[in-house]
Amino acid sequence: MKKRINRLFVIISVVAIVLSIGLVAAVYHSLFRKQMMSDLKEYADLLKELRWDEGAEEPEYFETMKDMEIRLTLVSPGGEVLYDNKADITQLKNHLDRPEIREALNSGEGQTVRNSETLASNTFYYALRLEDGSVLRVARNADSMVSMFTSVFPTILWIFAALILLSLGLAHFLTEKLLYPISKMAENMDSEISTADYEELIPFINTIQKQHQDIIKNARMRQEFTANVSHELKTPLTSISGYAELIETGMASETDIVRFAHGIRSSADRLLTLINDIIRLSELDGSEKEPVFELLNLREVAESCAENLRRNAEKSEVTLKVCGEDCRVQGDRQMVEELIYNLCDNAIRYNNAGGSVTVSTNICKSPEEGRKVGSVILSVQDTGIGIPKEHQDRIFERFYRVDKSRSKSTGGTGLGLAIVKHIVEKLGATIELESEPGRGTEIRVIFPEAKGI
Ligand code: ADP
Repeated sequence: MKKRINRLFVIISVVAIVLSIGLVAAVYHSLFRKQMMSDLKEYADLLKELRWDEGAEEPEYFETMKDMEIRLTLVSPGGEVLYDNKADITQLKNHLDRPEIREALNSGEGQTVRNSETLASNTFYYALRLEDGSVLRVARNADSMVSMFTSVFPTILWIFAALILLSLGLAHFLTEKLLYPISKMAENMDSEISTADYEELIPFINTIQKQHQDIIKNARMRQEFTANVSHELKTPLTSISGYAELIETGMASETDIVRFAHGIRSSADRLLTLINDIIRLSELDGSEKEPVFELLNLREVAESCAENLRRNAEKSEVTLKVCGEDCRVQGDRQMVEELIYNLCDNAIRYNNAGGSVTVSTNICKSPEEGRKVGSVILSVQDTGIGIPKEHQDRIFERFYRVDKSRSKSTGGTGLGLAIVKHIVEKLGATIELESEPGRGTEIRVIFPEAKGI
């Protein structure tokens, strides 16, 4: 960009310099011609006033005129040359064919500029009709435009070179000045950028800055995630290694070995669950696993999920029921099942003995709370421990847990709601959370109305 702008500045300068030199030369030349003609006219007028033609028996000053730069010619009304201070009049032909003479005879005055054969000089002629009808012609030679140009060419070349050098420096300076705010912006992507210099760049800068912040945020999240994953994997692996070491020493009794083996198994199970969740999350994160949309009856899917979790609910002494109406949604069956499963699983795990979990499916009938009529609401409501206000915004983050020990003791990985959030986004749905510590939690997923029904 810098090079391009610089090159453009140089091209503009060179074109401007060449054009200016050409134009100045042309204007100067035209002024010069005008001045020359007016000088000749003045001269002729003066001679006319002097009435030098009267009794022109070779006045004395005729002789002095021979050395003058100006050529004087006196032509009779018939075209015959009566006098010429530069040429032998006997050698001169009739001058009636000369345009300036003809013009002067017709209208009183005439003028012409004739080029020499070599184009090296021009001759300026001014002719004036005198009172007796004869014509006085004054003429003068001058360098032509071409020869004038050739004579001043070296000077022009020097000026040209100096101007080019100046414009190169100026182009460099201006390019730097022009690009300075942009390079300054590039250096300070993180801080508030002053866009006063280039108003037109504001939308461009805003987009870049947003992308830049997203990149930084993503990198930080990835780093945190890697650190969290390593930490989460370390705990079960350490206990597996510890149990194995105890068995290895041969000091453990038979009953201990069974106990240790159980410990190894549950740690290995935990590792598997964790790894499965991590894999699932990375699948949902990327774009390789896009949802396969089909028409689903949400109530049926909810019932089958509840069936799978019934044993867990019974173990935790929690009643699990599904109610509501048949609702059709467009979604990926596996994703919708996973979503309902994770929500119900949490509702059971973070419940109290004797509590309940209610899954309901309903079609939105009135446009309340910004929901569209026809959209489908899946609600998972529990009478569990609830989530304090300050944690509510963060529980959808990876590995974020309100009560770490409870989560771990109930087999939680801290990734369930992160998976839910991803699925909700993929399905084009939205999620709402309402919770009060000690009273329970309700999580609602709002699906858009299924089309084509
Ligand atoms: P976990 O595997 O720990 O359950 P989740 O991502 O599913 O991870 O949930 C994150 C945290 O949100 C949980 O650790 C828990 O503290 C809280 N949480 C989720 N669902 C509920 C609920 N229904 N009631 C109370 N707390 C909940």
